[in-house]
Amino acid sequence: MSNKLSNRISLPIYFSLIIFFIFLITVVITGLLFFLAQVFGLLNEELAQDGFVLPIMVLIACTIIGTTISAITSRKMVKSIRIFIEATERLASGDFSMRLQLKSPPEFEILSENFNRMAEELGGIEILRTDFVNNFSHEFKTPIVSIKGFAEVLKNDDLTKEERDEYLDIVIEESTRLASLASNVLELTQVETQKILTNKMRFNVGEQIRQSVLLLAAKFEKKHLKLNVNIQDYELSGNKELLNQVWLNLLDNAIKFTPEHGEIEVNMKKNEDNLVILVHDCGIGIHPEALPKIFDKFYQQDTSHSTAGNGLGLAIVKKIIHLHHGTISCESIPLQGTTFTVTIPIGM
Ligand code: ADP
Repeated sequence: MSNKLSNRISLPIYFSLIIFFIFLITVVITGLLFFLAQVFGLLNEELAQDGFVLPIMVLIACTIIGTTISAITSRKMVKSIRIFIEATERLASGDFSMRLQLKSPPEFEILSENFNRMAEELGGIEILRTDFVNNFSHEFKTPIVSIKGFAEVLKNDDLTKEERDEYLDIVIEESTRLASLASNVLELTQVETQKILTNKMRFNVGEQIRQSVLLLAAKFEKKHLKLNVNIQDYELSGNKELLNQVWLNLLDNAIKFTPEHGEIEVNMKKNEDNLVILVHDCGIGIHPEALPKIFDKFYQQDTSHSTAGNGLGLAIVKKIIHLHHGTISCESIPLQGTTFTVTIPIGM
């Protein structure tokens, strides 16, 4: 508060002092000139006693001296403003590397700091946007190229039925990948634009997790996975549809990254403030260097795209959990397994 007050009064004081010194210097120089003129006899008696000539001479001398001093002093101020205008112009044209180093008056230093912070933030957003567009274009182009290639091969009449079926399966798989990419991007933009949680209601989250497990039963069975579910009924206030996506995503990943005959465990704990849900698998695990990146958009540990997915699932999950004021963390040991821990405050 006192800092703000001193910031507010420092600029007027700065300007008042400048004006005061301009006056003072003007008066001193004018006085000195007239004193010297008197000493060297340039001012004769008649002139000094004339009621008009002397004041007019003083006025002209003051105007010339004052204007010269003001022009010199204001150049520094105007220079700072010019630098600022130039910086904003460069920023507006997309150069986010621009930084200001203005020091005085103190307001200009604050202006520089705020400008630099704004440029940094805008630069960060720009990098994120470019990365997103590049990743999206790459993820989008790969299946399209594949579909085009196989569609061309399929025009060949000499293909056997097995070959034809195999290529058609690839076309179907790649178009499914495209459809899932489109709906994931849509979901991500929807949750990213939400600042507060909408459609909040009380519902049994334990029941919801069990239903998600049931929904994926066919996938569990296909890989002969052993399942251990330890979930109680609990009424939570949240967005039912969004939280459903969280459980489906975490379970789907656990299935995807666990080899056949592996084991998956889902547990729920409740402490005083939070509901804690743990999804544990004995799958391939995540390398320690990859761990900090798994919640990034489009990040996939396996860049060969051999497993279904596009790397958006966990980015969506994290955003949904944050909308519920909760946290999500991951612990993993390569070739041993992974545990995702979701914590949601129960009082929300
Ligand atoms: P994807 O669509 O690839 O599953 P996600 O955002 O859901 O995208 O996950 C990002 C990456 O995190 C995955 O590609 C995978 O490398 C890693 N990952 C997520 N869950 C697991 C898990 N349970 N076991 C091992 N790796 C996982």
